[in-house]
Amino acid sequence: MGSLIAALASYCEAKTINGQWLLRIEDLDPPREVHGASQSFIETLDAFGFQLDGKTLYQSEKARQQAYQKTLNQLIKNGHIYYCCCSRNQLKGMDINEHKCRNQNTIPNKPYSINLRVPNSDITFIDRIQGSYTKNLLNDCGDCVLQRKDGLFSYQLAVVVDDSFQNITDIVRGIDLIDSTPWQIYLNSLLNYQQPSYAHIPILVNEMGQKLSKQAFAKEINPEKALETLIHAYNILLQKPFIEPPQTLNEFWNDVIMHWNINKLDNIQSIQV
Ligand SMILES: [Zn+2]
Repeated sequence: MGSLIAALASYCEAKTINGQWLLRIEDLDPPREVHGASQSFIETLDAFGFQLDGKTLYQSEKARQQAYQKTLNQLIKNGHIYYCCCSRNQLKGMDINEHKCRNQNTIPNKPYSINLRVPNSDITFIDRIQGSYTKNLLNDCGDCVLQRKDGLFSYQLAVVVDDSFQNITDIVRGIDLIDSTPWQIYLNSLLNYQQPSYAHIPILVNEMGQKLSKQAFAKEINPEKALETLIHAYNILLQKPFIEPPQTLNEFWNDVIMHWNINKLDNIQSIQV
């Protein structure tokens, strides 16, 4: 349901402003991909009546992997990275100013991650839902991994490269990703990419305020009940109630795209369902 909410909100927002809605499969960690999961995800979107614009981008594609490498090389060349051999345990609780690897510019002879060295500066952006958001890169965010010890590129690097590659202008996603945004804005600036606008939608929580697990709602995403599931999801997003409930998927989409108003979510960080 969390994924459906994010899909629905971003789709309505894109269609309301006559934009395109692009699908990207973030399969950066092939061993952890459940076989067939992305195909079944795409089929579910189709059954729910989402219409994809453009070609679906897979981050596992060779051309994308090459693009991440090229970008990483550029960041290495410009002195924005360092090599880190520390274990997760060593890093836990370590004060960033005492992290000696931050000055390590030669390639170590044991396994290392390649990390972005962040400066002591604030990043501020105006989120279209959450308002003004400021974090200090050094003290609040810390450095971020660009390439893991096992050679896999990190989400932060790949997302920034692909947002630019796909000419993304508007990002609508769950607020659980808002903490990543300062790193992405900083990377965009280092790479001279356009800054997209951000809208972070609330997450769904239970009565105890805990984020809902994927399992808790998995059973609700049944393509045979697409229309009622979509109506439920739309109502969760605090939109103007339907005067008459739509009878078909077509009616649903026509109606919601006409009435969608992202500002109904203003300053809301979680919605209890
Ligand atoms: Zn280290």
